[in-house]
Amino acid sequence: SREKSRYRDRTTDSAEMADELRELVPAGVCSTFRAYDPHPVHADRAEGTYLFDVDGNRYVDFALNNGAQLVGHAHPRLTDEITEQVQRGTLYTRPNELLEAAARPLIERWEAIQQVRFTNSGTESVMHASRLARAYTGCEKLIRMEGAYHGAHDPALVSKMPPLEAVGPADDPNPVRESKGVPADAEDQLLLAQYNDADSVERLLRDHGDEVAAILVEPACLNLGLVEPESGFLHRLRELADEHDVLLVFDEVKTGVKLAPGGGAEYYGVQPDLVALAKAIGGGYPVGAFGGRREIMQLIADDLEDGTATGAAHYGTYNGNPLALRAVSVTLSEILTDDAYERIDDLSERLAAGYRGIIEDVGLEAHVRRAGSQGMVYFTDERISTFRDWSRIDEEFHEAYWLGMVNRGVFPHPHDASQQWTVSVQHDADDVDAHLEAFADLATDLAA
Ligand code: PLP
Repeated sequence: SREKSRYRDRTTDSAEMADELRELVPAGVCSTFRAYDPHPVHADRAEGTYLFDVDGNRYVDFALNNGAQLVGHAHPRLTDEITEQVQRGTLYTRPNELLEAAARPLIERWEAIQQVRFTNSGTESVMHASRLARAYTGCEKLIRMEGAYHGAHDPALVSKMPPLEAVGPADDPNPVRESKGVPADAEDQLLLAQYNDADSVERLLRDHGDEVAAILVEPACLNLGLVEPESGFLHRLRELADEHDVLLVFDEVKTGVKLAPGGGAEYYGVQPDLVALAKAIGGGYPVGAFGGRREIMQLIADDLEDGTATGAAHYGTYNGNPLALRAVSVTLSEILTDDAYERIDDLSERLAAGYRGIIEDVGLEAHVRRAGSQGMVYFTDERISTFRDWSRIDEEFHEAYWLGMVNRGVFPHPHDASQQWTVSVQHDADDVDAHLEAFADLATDLAA
């Protein structure tokens, strides 16, 4: 396509670097999602709301590393604090006052979180929350939504985003292992339901309730663009969990602190039993956390009582390292203030409203979703409520949009339609208007 050849012309140094890196590193990247055709933009540096590539192009960045950077790039406050911390030591493996400073804001933001433990990634947070749910209930299976992404551990790679040809009927989906090396019994740990279909969850609980530890769900699906819960869906999951004595676990790795200060739980008014967090809580530094009701979290402390599985294990050399804790504490207590959320919300609405206006002006078949700092354009008039709806969107059209935006100096979101834009604390009206100008220019082409 025209946009793809323009992209190639603008990113020749990236192409060259990609060729070299592919010799050394599989696909030239360290998380396979980052590889795409013809080659990713290779970064030179990032500052504020801009990313600069090795070809010298500047992009207004709304991708912000899969939304990990609600604080924008290299936030000066955070940079100062982290620099100071580096000089005070980067790893203690001893409790210290930063642990309280990082734990408190999470406990304050989530009603559901009475205690919290820190990890290094979303994968770890979900994995440990899942283990804890099993330990607490004595049951092995998790009910999970088909097509949801919950990290890179084995069971999370079952039916992550399976090809439609393989999924079978919606009311009885096939588990699909999406990586070689995932053991077959990873499938046994899961029961698959459909997001936004509480009846599908109820059926599983009715038939298998005594084997189920938890319902694991993202409050809004931020790996399907931005698919929100239909009215009553999350409330119904809460009721079903209570009726069947299973836990409700929210994966708030992406929704946490981005939809609202207290994540999807606050935004949609439903409190889970356990919450998995990562990404934006650390302002761009690698950190995760999981937390929940005291009596559940205390099972981790019980592990100390004897060596024979009275509790649930949670270990890790870099867990709660001082850089990560300081990043969480500064990000949540000093940068993401109430004022900051208000500003983000205004700008986020300005962006979504701008898109809607342009879509109407040029007569594009498209619609925009927005929740808090997050937003997404879908090039269809049909409402997308489930993974299967999402799987039918026109990927090529979306790619033309994404490349067209990148060629116009804007990263609207990470490179495919599974992602969404993030409006950060450092964005201002000029950044939003630059985003909208690029879209207005491109939209006429897209509509033609
Ligand atoms: N859960 C969700 C909802 C995610 O979006 C992701 C990452 O994109 C993860 C878990 C895994 O997080 P990490 O990449 O930090 O391991």
